[in-house]
Amino acid sequence: MQGGVIIKKLIKNGIIVNYDCILKGDILIDNSEIIKVDKNIESNCEDIVDAKGNYVFPGLIDAHTHPGLPEDLGFKKDTDDFYTETKAALKGGTTTIFDFAEQKKGERLLDALEKRKSRYKNSSGCKYEFHVAVTSVGKDTYEQLREIKDAGINSIKIYTTYDMKLKHEEILTLFDYCAKLNITALIHCEEDSIIRYSSKNTSFPMTRPKEAEENMVNTVINFSRLTGCRVYICHVSSKDSMELIKRAKEDGLPIIMETCPQYLIFDDSIYNIEQKERTKYILSPPFREVSHKEPLIKACLDGTVDLISTDHCAFLFKEHKEKYCLNLEKAAKGMPGIQLRSSIIYNLLVVNYGLDIKDYVKLLSYNPAKIFGLKDRGYIKPGMKADLVIWSNEKFKVNMRDIIEGTDYSPYEGFELIGKPLYTNIAL
Ligand SMILES: [Zn+2]
Repeated sequence: MQGGVIIKKLIKNGIIVNYDCILKGDILIDNSEIIKVDKNIESNCEDIVDAKGNYVFPGLIDAHTHPGLPEDLGFKKDTDDFYTETKAALKGGTTTIFDFAEQKKGERLLDALEKRKSRYKNSSGCKYEFHVAVTSVGKDTYEQLREIKDAGINSIKIYTTYDMKLKHEEILTLFDYCAKLNITALIHCEEDSIIRYSSKNTSFPMTRPKEAEENMVNTVINFSRLTGCRVYICHVSSKDSMELIKRAKEDGLPIIMETCPQYLIFDDSIYNIEQKERTKYILSPPFREVSHKEPLIKACLDGTVDLISTDHCAFLFKEHKEKYCLNLEKAAKGMPGIQLRSSIIYNLLVVNYGLDIKDYVKLLSYNPAKIFGLKDRGYIKPGMKADLVIWSNEKFKVNMRDIIEGTDYSPYEGFELIGKPLYTNIAL
């Protein structure tokens, strides 16, 4: 509304892509809502955007990002404040991100949520939602989960390694509560005992071996079977974990599988490159042997993977990475990528592997909206929020000049890609 008048906008000549249909036509929106989708809409509104025959997607959603990691939970501070992070997301056509409200041990979950929310004041490019990371389980945890559910939270996060990790019996208790409250449990799967045992290895990927992930994935699948909890397995990096999840899904278990662009692009040979550079690729779980990549890509193509998120962590190469080139385990773990996710995945899966464009929309928009109950996002039709991306098939080379993620490097610098957002409309 401006001066009491509804401001309408007409997007003309698009190829409108939903996960289940494609329509050549126009979209009429007001400030925040799609009001009409049709082959040819006549309107006297002044604001007309010509999509020129390009794709129009529902706004993309990144369900797993970490802006401004909290130092008090043992993370090193990153540099990407909430302003740059949400702007960078928007530049890549992502209109909603999910962040994590991390509970300090013993802190009330609702307090952790409010504290995290307050950090977004005055600083949003795109929209933001939250998962609440539960790091301790006590007598009133059920009650606290009910409180955050009442506050609109549909998902919690559980760690199985790091200081925030929970014990197996605590995870079972939480799964039981989540099943009762219809909350989805996101879980970082790395078995801590295996990580500790492997810490003596000198090769970085072997300090966090794939067995740590697989072991925990297997445990979590069984816990889901016992409790009925809907479980979202984060950043799957190994083909063996993927196969366990695939089987569990075939058995009808409510398991959701996420992977990230980096696991489809890189492999562990990158840790052998010139020493300082390789610290850019330190993350957990680490990259696996090259033989894992193709099966993971296939799992994206055949629908085994439900969604692709970034796990974006914008550490500085100069400050948090390169000085640990001889002691990789000490380098800050995480990679940026919130801005380029849409292009990396489009180029890889749609251009190189022939993924149906509807499935692209499913992986990056429809599924994340559906999984987390964002009822007015992830689909283009009247009544939905007017989060829209006009997509160009332009070829471009990734140049740091164009990256606004607030880091001093991009793992994708120099990549030649096809596909990027031409215009993004965000409903406020
Ligand atoms: Zn993460």
